[in-house]
Amino acid sequence: MIKITCRKCNSPNIRKNGHTKSGRQKCHSRDCNFYSTLNLKKMELEEKSELIEKLYQERLSQKAISRITGISHPILSKILKKSCTSDR
Ligand SMILES: [Zn+2]
Repeated sequence: MIKITCRKCNSPNIRKNGHTKSGRQKCHSRDCNFYSTLNLKKMELEEKSELIEKLYQERLSQKAISRITGISHPILSKILKKSCTSDR
């Protein structure tokens, strides 16, 4: 499950507040009263990027990782590039 937290205060005390026209989840933080929209696709990708890094450390090929996670190869290599630079 994807944990939803407030973008402003990081509180998990969030109330779902319908959707925008583009299908994003609208949320309202009870702690700081901040209204935000969530990019669930982006969050899902961030969740998967952890798994991707683990698989990559096991020396699986990017093709294999792409098959396992269901993430297309261009996006996959973007994630791997990002994770390599953020380590330093
Ligand atoms: Zn908040």
